[in-house]
Amino acid sequence: QLIFLNGQFVSKKDAVVSVYDHGFLYGDGVFEGIRVYEGNVFRLQDHVNRLYDSAKSIMLSIPYSKQELSDLVVETLRVNGLLNAYIRVVVSRGVGNLGLDPSSCARPQVIVIAEELALFPKELYESGIEIVTVATRRNRSDVLSPKVKSLNYLNNILVRIEAGLSGVNEALMLNDQGYVAEGSADNVFIVKNGEILTPPGYVGALEGITRNAIMEIAHNLGFLMREEVFTRHDVYVADEVFLTGTAAEVIAVVKVDGRTIGEGKPGAVTNQLLKEFRKTVVEDGVK
Ligand code: PLP
Repeated sequence: QLIFLNGQFVSKKDAVVSVYDHGFLYGDGVFEGIRVYEGNVFRLQDHVNRLYDSAKSIMLSIPYSKQELSDLVVETLRVNGLLNAYIRVVVSRGVGNLGLDPSSCARPQVIVIAEELALFPKELYESGIEIVTVATRRNRSDVLSPKVKSLNYLNNILVRIEAGLSGVNEALMLNDQGYVAEGSADNVFIVKNGEILTPPGYVGALEGITRNAIMEIAHNLGFLMREEVFTRHDVYVADEVFLTGTAAEVIAVVKVDGRTIGEGKPGAVTNQLLKEFRKTVVEDGVK
């Protein structure tokens, strides 16, 4: 496996960063997770745009043009000979002195990792998953925007830890006002009376690229699709609940905090959206 680091491809063994990298010391950096289906990079442009927006928001200047970075992603796939993969792009502030001041960091560090996919087991897509809601809150939209996909993922990690303590794989975070925001690394949708709802970005959800793809697909299939704030109660009484994300794709949720959702199995709307999504991902990518 070859990893892009310090301007060149190195082996996994040699892919190490300095302890003085501010990404390591302070979580000072941004990242993207991107999926490749049959050699098609899914919505590469959207991921690159989001990466540059995240970087701009934290005043981090990526030392490549968007086109160069896109080419780098494709090149990383090519040198690793991968057709179906998960790609991680990381841009950290780079190596500097101890101390928060980023001005000591001479150059941002750009890392691209492409790996074989570690898919969720197929059974989970057929059975649906059980989740809980947790005490950890999403960071507030008026502080560091949740739209910034930064290297500070402590809230999300705590969500996973809390999920694990409850014996489940994933959980929902609420925002500081108690509205449902999202999962640890995925967006949430509910279906009620034929209408599909997902929280708007300002509630504290990342504007997921899978989320946006599903909103488009739902719209094209003629479903009523709205961004709307909702509470845990609305989730409990929904007909269907599902999560979306680069890693998760579209996965049904059949139990939330012990409440069975709908019939306790993936619903018709979720299944239809997943089927259409799987069709789109191959057609919609960059070769
Ligand atoms: N929410 C958070 C906090 C995430 O980290 C991710 C993963 O990228 C998502 C949602 C899903 O977004 P996407 O569909 O772009 O992967």
